[in-house]
Amino acid sequence: MIIENLNISFNNITFPIYIMTKSVGNNCNLNCTYCQKKSSTNNDLMSINVLERFTKLYIEAQIHSSVNFYWIGGEPMLLGTEFYTKAIEFQSIYGKGKKINNTIQTNGTLITDEWLHFLKENDFTVILTIDGPQFCHDHYRVDKNGKGTFNDVMESLNKIREYGIKHSIKTTINDFNSKFPLEMYHFFKENKILNLNFQPHVSSIRGRVTEWSVSPISYGNFLCSIFDEWVRKDIGRVNVSIFDNTLKVFCRKETHNCVYSQTCGHIAMADVEGNLYTCNKFDADDYQIGNIDNYTITRMMYGRKQLKFGQQKRSNLTLQCKKCQFLKFCNGGCPKDRIGCSINGEKKHNFLCAGYQKFYNHVAPTMTYMAGEIAEGGNVSRVMTFFEDN
Ligand code: SF4
Ligand code: SF4
Repeated sequence: MIIENLNISFNNITFPIYIMTKSVGNNCNLNCTYCQKKSSTNNDLMSINVLERFTKLYIEAQIHSSVNFYWIGGEPMLLGTEFYTKAIEFQSIYGKGKKINNTIQTNGTLITDEWLHFLKENDFTVILTIDGPQFCHDHYRVDKNGKGTFNDVMESLNKIREYGIKHSIKTTINDFNSKFPLEMYHFFKENKILNLNFQPHVSSIRGRVTEWSVSPISYGNFLCSIFDEWVRKDIGRVNVSIFDNTLKVFCRKETHNCVYSQTCGHIAMADVEGNLYTCNKFDADDYQIGNIDNYTITRMMYGRKQLKFGQQKRSNLTLQCKKCQFLKFCNGGCPKDRIGCSINGEKKHNFLCAGYQKFYNHVAPTMTYMAGEIAEGGNVSRVMTFFEDN
């Protein structure tokens, strides 16, 4: 490993390496409004040769006993089960006793009976994107004819449940659905979707924030409204990832979500040709860290460029972030979202900052109480009783 003379933090060498694999490039069967990676820009798919070499090197690069393959797109199911059957074959050849996990992130519109059998038989975890109730989901998540995809995704979710396939849900929070926090929250609860992972959508085109990006204040209001409902009724019943991460920090524990961590760099992305990029969110040529034909994955992931990228999350904080009382909670947020301006006019400040501040200010008293209960071995759900009485 080329780690000499580099300022590597403890986490960098003990975290497992994750590589998200874009087996279909940006190819997708849908045409979601907020997706800027339309399929027409790239028609390549990963070849079996690249798949085999990638699988071998990825497994060799792991210092832990389990290996996580994470298939993303575009829409990774476009490749069909044959490709992933080959992936499983290579994983078993090169796995050498390691536990192999596979996760596939899908829009849920291509799931056939054949796919369901395959996913169940090979113990895949499926991540479905559902952006809320039909009027929210269909607002942006449409097919190439402009038709909403809600019914197809919900049908897939029901089948995935029937087959007993491991799954979770990811929800993009945009300018539209952020206006309906309680409708969103109740929809998920009614449909027994109890692990909620909200991903704020922030994007820009030629330096201008897109109209479908969630505004900082809408994002803050969205989180606060859901928090108020959750804290009264659902602690211990519904998991909301940003609440969990925030509570961990109140409990002085480390969060493993890259967005809220001090540094990043241990989650890279592989494209169809075996090029590795610093992160799925940074896939321009400038962020390429090598190709599997020329370097091992260990060398690319612990190389100077990747480590510098990871450390820059902390070293490039604005002055406002450095002085902020909430720094330990958000650590300046994802560098991709740093397209705003700080109160001092400094560029590359997190666009969502005002939303984060609103949320952290709002939850601080309750979370402090909850962290105290946890420290004393008490029952954190007691906070719900407190709200009932007041
Ligand atoms: S750039 Fe953003 S998404 Fe990528 S590893 Fe860093 S925090 Fe995570
Ligand atoms: S809340 Fe805003 S100022 Fe504070 S650390 Fe996060 S992004 Fe920076």
